[in-house]
Amino acid sequence: MTARSTLSCEIDLDAPGKRHGFLRLPHSTHESAYGFIPIPIAVIANGRGPTVLLVAGNHGDEYEGQIVLGRVIREVEPAQVSGRLIVLPAANFPAARAGRRVSPIDGGNLNRLFPGDPDGGVTEQIAWHIAEVLLPLADAVLDLHSGGSSLMYAPSALIRRSGDAALFARGIAALKAFGAPHSYIVIPGTNGGRTLSEMAFRRGVLHVGTELGGGGHATPQAIRIAERGVAGLLRHLEVADLPWDAGPPRPPTRILDVGGAEYYLHAPEPGVFEPLVELGAEARAGQPAGLIHHTETPWRAPTPVAFARDGVVLVKRWPGLTARGDCLFHIGTDTGS
Ligand code: CA
Repeated sequence: MTARSTLSCEIDLDAPGKRHGFLRLPHSTHESAYGFIPIPIAVIANGRGPTVLLVAGNHGDEYEGQIVLGRVIREVEPAQVSGRLIVLPAANFPAARAGRRVSPIDGGNLNRLFPGDPDGGVTEQIAWHIAEVLLPLADAVLDLHSGGSSLMYAPSALIRRSGDAALFARGIAALKAFGAPHSYIVIPGTNGGRTLSEMAFRRGVLHVGTELGGGGHATPQAIRIAERGVAGLLRHLEVADLPWDAGPPRPPTRILDVGGAEYYLHAPEPGVFEPLVELGAEARAGQPAGLIHHTETPWRAPTPVAFARDGVVLVKRWPGLTARGDCLFHIGTDTGS
C-alpha cells in the first residue's frame, strides 16, 4: 500500500537513532511547478519496544500539541526511548502554516477526511498516508487537539468507547496516565467517524486524543498539562522516560461520558453570544447556559439557551459573534469508569 501514497518520506523510520526531515507531498502550482509541500516528521528510536505515533496540527489552528511535539523532537534522545516515537507535529501542514483549521489549498479538514484518498486533493492524500502508511506502524496513537479558533476546552483527554473490554481498559489506563484535569469517552462515529482516532479505534490500536484549550492560541497552563500528559503517557506505555512530569502530584483525572445530541448546545439564532457559565461548571438540565443578543435590534429581548441535561461544562464557544447552528457548549456526564 505504501507504493500508492503520493507522499515520500525523506528519513528512514526503521533504523535506530534520531532523525528529522519532511514528508514530501508533490504539489505543482503557478508559483512552483515542480515543488512539494514539506510536512515535518521525526523519528526517535532505540531498541525493542512499542511504536507510538504522536500527531499535532491535524487542525492547523490548534497550537498546544504543535508546541509540545516540537519540544519532543528537540529534546528527547534515543537513550530515553525503548521502542520508537514517530512525531508528526504539523500533520495538515498547509493549514498549520496558515494558522487555520482547514487547508487553504483545498479547504480540506484533515480530521474529517480519514481514511483519505491517494488520488484525492492534498488533504485527502495526507490522510491516506497517515492512515495507510504511518498508522500501521503504530501500537498507540496520540492525536493532540484543542478547540481551535472557535472553541475553548477545559483541558481534557479522550478515547472512544470500545466493545473490546481489554482495549477499553487500556484506554482508561492511558487517560489516567495522561492525567488531564478532565477526560471523556465519546461514542464511536463521533465527528462523522472520519477522524484519525476513529481509524485507530477501528483497527484496534490504542488511541488517545486531547482537547487541551483553544481560542486560536496557547496558554502556559495548557502547555504544562500537555507536557506532563505526554510524559506520563509515554512512561505508562514504557516507550520513553521524560522528566517533564515532575512537579506536585496531580489530582486524578475526572472521567466523563460525552454522548449524542443532548450533550451539545447550538445557537438557535444568530447574534452575539453571552455565556452564563464557565468551563468546568456543574450544569443542570434547564439551567440557562447563555444568551444570544440581537445587536441589530437591541430592543428585542435576548434569546436564552438552556442545557438539556445535567453535566460538566467541557467546552464553550470562543468568539462572541455567532451564527445559527454554531456550537455554544458541550457537557460531559460522570461515568463509573
Ligand atoms: Ca481539533
